Amino acid sequence: MMTLPYDEFKTRADKVRAQIAAACVAVGRDPAKVELLAVTKTHPAAAADYAARYGLRAVGENRVQEAVAKRAECSAAITWELIGHLQSNKAKLAAETFDRVQSVDSVKLVNHLDRAAAAAGKVLPILLQINAGQDPAKFGAEPTDAPALLEAALAAGALRVDGLMTIAPLSDDPDVARRTFVNLRTIRDELAGRFGTPLCELSMGMSGDLQAAIEAGSTQVRVGTALFGTRA
Ligand SMILES: *Cc1c(COP(=O)(O)O)cnc(C)c1O
Repeated sequence: MMTLPYDEFKTRADKVRAQIAAACVAVGRDPAKVELLAVTKTHPAAAADYAARYGLRAVGENRVQEAVAKRAECSAAITWELIGHLQSNKAKLAAETFDRVQSVDSVKLVNHLDRAAAAAGKVLPILLQINAGQDPAKFGAEPTDAPALLEAALAAGALRVDGLMTIAPLSDDPDVARRTFVNLRTIRDELAGRFGTPLCELSMGMSGDLQAAIEAGSTQVRVGTALFGTRA
């Protein structure tokens, strides 16, 4: 059982949606163009049920094994996205388990996921994770490696590249997140022009920095704490 009752979750989710809407209105964007991804990591499978009941399309998990277990337990019709670092040796299980993998950060991982998706008989949607904040503590491809990574991903027949993802460095200075998100948007615009592919999805922004992310063009905010409370 969840410690958080559904009604409380709903109140929190309404509040997050209002925050998203306000951030959109402030910069003249359509709130319908910013998706709320419920980050259910460390919470029981019931968290995914809550998200589905609230009408969300997808949940985000950062560990493959944890998602495998919860997916088996969860009756809800909802899709599952991997947002945490993925090692190549878990690519097969990840390709089988997830509806989209957001944390693709190396050519090696592209190749492993491509083979695994092909073997599973599916085309796996992915995002390329870029270290747009130049954060030494974060995973993600360096911006200078992004063109080669995209080239490999576009050549992978069993992968579909939806866009880019980033995590802003932890900082007390809100400008750090802002610069990271603007940087990801700029990288996207450059890659989209150079490779002639739209890269529509920009997954950026979490509980603490979603406003800055939406101002910079985020199409999906990944929110855990603001929906489910502090993680143990
Ligand atoms: C945990 C996590 C989130 C959610 O963070 P909150 O601050 O709890 O909203 C978003 N993105 C990634 C990649 C995460 O690992």
